[in-house]
Amino acid sequence: MFWDKVKETMPREELEALQSARLREVALRAARSPFYKNRFAEAGVEPGDVRGLEDLRRLPFTTKQDLRDWFPYGLVAADMKDVVRLHASSGTTGKSTAVFYSRADIDNWADMVARCMAMTGADSSDVFQNMTGYGMFTGGLGMHFGAERLGMLTIPMGAGNTKWQMANMKMYGTTVIHITPSYALHLCEEFAAEGIDPKRDLKLRIALVGAEPYSEGTRRKLEDFLGASVFNSYGLSEMNGPGVAFECVEKNGMHLWEDHYILEIVDPKTLEPVAEGERGEIVMTTLTREAMPIIRYRVRDLTSVLPGACPCGRTHRRIDRITGRSDDMLIIKGVNVFPSQIEDALMSMSEVGGGWQIELTRVEGADHIAVNVEVADSFFRGDIKELNRLRKSIQGAIKNETLVTPEVKLVEPNTLPRSVGKAVRVIDKRQI
Ligand code: AMP
Ligand code: ZN
Repeated sequence: MFWDKVKETMPREELEALQSARLREVALRAARSPFYKNRFAEAGVEPGDVRGLEDLRRLPFTTKQDLRDWFPYGLVAADMKDVVRLHASSGTTGKSTAVFYSRADIDNWADMVARCMAMTGADSSDVFQNMTGYGMFTGGLGMHFGAERLGMLTIPMGAGNTKWQMANMKMYGTTVIHITPSYALHLCEEFAAEGIDPKRDLKLRIALVGAEPYSEGTRRKLEDFLGASVFNSYGLSEMNGPGVAFECVEKNGMHLWEDHYILEIVDPKTLEPVAEGERGEIVMTTLTREAMPIIRYRVRDLTSVLPGACPCGRTHRRIDRITGRSDDMLIIKGVNVFPSQIEDALMSMSEVGGGWQIELTRVEGADHIAVNVEVADSFFRGDIKELNRLRKSIQGAIKNETLVTPEVKLVEPNTLPRSVGKAVRVIDKRQI
């Protein structure tokens, strides 16, 4: 289903011409902010000289550190009387940063989210329960306004209060949810504990799942249990929030809305563009944001652009599932390990429950990795032999995936700390 067929299927040449025109405007607008005025001067860039996409790489990068250094208002390029909203990053890594929106920014954002939702098959006859945090986190209000724009009956639940969530899903016949993958896994456990079979007892058909990395294994687990189609949802506060990129029904990568953002994939070391289809760090430029335009932002999420056209007819390029961040990569005994690899290994095993956590320590000068894993409720009988076998096979699966042999600690179902927003998957005690 299309929300805005003309824009979503715009021929590439037209799309690139639009990007060029918008980039010219954005360079001029950004220069009104104290930060870019300064940064352009340092880089010797005259914003009026930007002719289009061909000049993109002459523009300097922007980093999260820049946002912190110029916190709170240094990147605001609009008159403060035209700024109507503030959100803050959840602080996935370090201190939070603030993002500002004009009325038009909020409007464009709702439109992009509506596009994403329509793309999954959701429509105005759906009942939408938003199960992510409202407030400063963009997942609440961002998805909320998109859902209303699409015309869905929108239930602004927020995160947590799982029993109440379940009751609402039943009472109102919720058909679409928005939820983080870690909370979704927890929700499944709670359903099981309450004897609720979503396939039998609920009307759920679509789950929009994102805001943190997860694997295909997690998707399968959620789809099997919930009996709903799970769609990957990608976004970040610096680029509005959710609605930046989303899966269509083909589920072959996430279309990134290139009429609103310029997408580059660069090598994290050289900052040069990678070859077509290769993995690298996402760099994004906002094309329509008024209050806080951001140019060549080093997002640090790692992905690749998927080659070829999507059968759905949309021309906006697709990015692959985010496999990690260039800065959450762990180096364990000299080996590069992404938490997503460990998740992959764990989620391929049906005996494993929803909660897991990596704990890194240093023992006699050497790195030590322990993985705490909850055993699935259905498997947990307390038989020591069975558990030992499971421990060994988890260890083998992680070693296969990462080349690192962890200590595996099995714990009872539902005993690891739960988060209703973004999960804390890594506890790194090595720096202390
Ligand atoms: P925030 O700005 O606090 O919402 O955090 C944004 C970050 O969350 C992104 O830069 C990603 O690292 C992560 N993130 C959001 N959506 C996804 C997704 N679908 N898959 C993987 N990581 C995601
Ligand atoms: Zn598609």
